[in-house]
Amino acid sequence: MKRDRGDWIWGTIVTAFFAVIIGGGIWAIDRYVPPQHLFWKPLDTSNPLGIATRHQLLALNLKSSDICMSVARDSVDYKSIPADPKRPKSGAGKDVCGWDVARVVYGTEQTMFAPGESNMQCPLSVAVYLWQREVDALARKHFDQPLAKIHHYGSYSCRRQRGNGSGKWSEHAFANAWDVSAFELADGTLIQIINHWDGPRKKANFLREARTAACDLFQVTLSPDYNAAHADHFHLDMGPSRSCR
Ligand SMILES: [Zn+2]
Repeated sequence: MKRDRGDWIWGTIVTAFFAVIIGGGIWAIDRYVPPQHLFWKPLDTSNPLGIATRHQLLALNLKSSDICMSVARDSVDYKSIPADPKRPKSGAGKDVCGWDVARVVYGTEQTMFAPGESNMQCPLSVAVYLWQREVDALARKHFDQPLAKIHHYGSYSCRRQRGNGSGKWSEHAFANAWDVSAFELADGTLIQIINHWDGPRKKANFLREARTAACDLFQVTLSPDYNAAHADHFHLDMGPSRSCR
């Protein structure tokens, strides 16, 4: 009887000891590790990319659109406005395509889009904002030039993945994918995926690093390495699949 009581006391002391150690460890991680590395923290676009950024973007995808819209609005140098809802009035994708909540995105003061705007679902637009900041850093690193423009083929297109009458709908059908063809530096230098993916080393390295940065942010990143259909552009989307090719 006495011995049982002693065991119980020791058991309690040891359990309390470990509870304090583990609890204190979690508290210290939460308090001192930068939020971009913590999966349970919300996305803050003023932070640099971290190991949890993609998961934080994904969480934004799953939360109510109001939260994403306020993140987009509060990202200071990000030029975008809410887009009107869109639903096609006729055609095969009438009940599928379009969006309820999206943004018209223009880029930033320094890095504009060519053509000048693109409609995007809100989490995609926030991922694009973070990505263009990374690509700007790459432009400065490789060419000592800021990134002036991102050339693109647009985001919204009411079509299926394979372009025929059946099969899964493309994320483009929901403005949840963006196709990027080239990058233009401040001095007018053009870096095109079609011409420079296997071109001079500097431009090819820049493009590969831009793809790697995309893989850290988007759910799906497809480049010329994936197939011939992507020889001239990166496909970036925030759909449910996960791919980095
Ligand atoms: Zn695409």
